[in-house]
Amino acid sequence: MSTPTYLYPYMDFLEALSSISPSLSFDEPLSKHTTFRVGGPASITVSPQSREELVKVFELVKRMTPSLPICLLGKGSNVVFDDEGYGGLVIFTSGMQNVNFHSADEEGYTNVTAECGASLTVLSRQCATEGRSLEGLAFAYGIPGTIGGAIVMNAGAFGGEISDIVHSVDYYDPQTGDIITADKEDLHFAYRHSLFTEHPEYVVLSTTLRMKEGVNEIIVDQMAANMTTRRLKQPVELPNAGSVFKRPEGYFAGKLIEDSGLKGFRIGGAQVSEKHAGFIVNTGDATAEDIKSLVAHVAHVVKVNFGVTLEREIRYITTKRNGD
Ligand SMILES: Cc1cc2nc3c(=O)[nH]c(=O)nc-3n(C[C@H](O)[C@H](O)[C@H](O)COP(=O)(O)OP(=O)(O)OC[C@H]3O[C@@H](n4cnc5c(N)ncnc54)[C@H](O)[C@@H]3O)c2cc1C
Repeated sequence: MSTPTYLYPYMDFLEALSSISPSLSFDEPLSKHTTFRVGGPASITVSPQSREELVKVFELVKRMTPSLPICLLGKGSNVVFDDEGYGGLVIFTSGMQNVNFHSADEEGYTNVTAECGASLTVLSRQCATEGRSLEGLAFAYGIPGTIGGAIVMNAGAFGGEISDIVHSVDYYDPQTGDIITADKEDLHFAYRHSLFTEHPEYVVLSTTLRMKEGVNEIIVDQMAANMTTRRLKQPVELPNAGSVFKRPEGYFAGKLIEDSGLKGFRIGGAQVSEKHAGFIVNTGDATAEDIKSLVAHVAHVVKVNFGVTLEREIRYITTKRNGD
């Protein structure tokens, strides 16, 4: 793979980076790594295979190219990158998917430790198959994200949230170089909020969930029902990033948008879903700019019609790694 000329000034850094993590690539289209299927190229991408490798990548950047923007990316199911792409280093967490089921304790709880890149849906299934019947993750069956992304966003559905079953999270603070194990009460979980939305510079390395033994048939039935509901009510057939807006206190964003007559409204290739007005879909050729314009338009119309401010749930990632 040849190095683009604009990265020539970084040759020493790139050589050192590839000796830590050989999975380097340049100008990788981010549209291939996001569920919205938009986003231009990332200057550099890398996929560490362990927390040690990931930490070494951060240490190297700090030592050699401290001003290089860095962004973590799980399954890209809650983000919009710019059409111009990302002028920095995108770290994919897909190489870190180990899951460890510990033995049950005397109270009947099992701790499950999952690396940040583990798939939520796969983990949810693993908890109810292979002889296990662990309660608490059926809500996540069908959420197309990673455990790391779910911790950051405190992902939730069908009355459950990941924070309900979190025991602790190991995270890395690139500024101090520390790896910290934080218990649930120190993670500031609230609706689509966590310590990691407050500190976008922190890196979730792994999460330990504390799960109770349940009845297998009930868990499996819940998972199946949740998946059926998703397929019926959500525009799963078109690229999207889930609910665009958070639920405003006392309202449903989708209903406010539908009642504003915006179902099906489009800007360029971005459209308010005909199936569920809380979603925006990429009808085929949407750009990030189309999506952002549509998001702004929808929020404006709802504000004018109902006086309600819609707050974005999906995250815009620009080269300044502001996490929002
Ligand atoms: C069809 C569909 C349905 C959805 N349904 C739901 C739902 O029911 N409930 C719900 O809550 N969400 C839902 N979502 C949104 C999304 O799947 C979740 O928010 C998910 O948890 C995001 O995980 P991810 O790995 O894709 O994160 P990404 O989109 O990759 O990243 C999200 C943010 O977290 C940061 N990040 C990722 N990994 C790390 C890490 N290890 N350390 C630090 N920061 C990190 C990223 O930089 C980014 O800012 C849905 C999305 C789709 C497309």
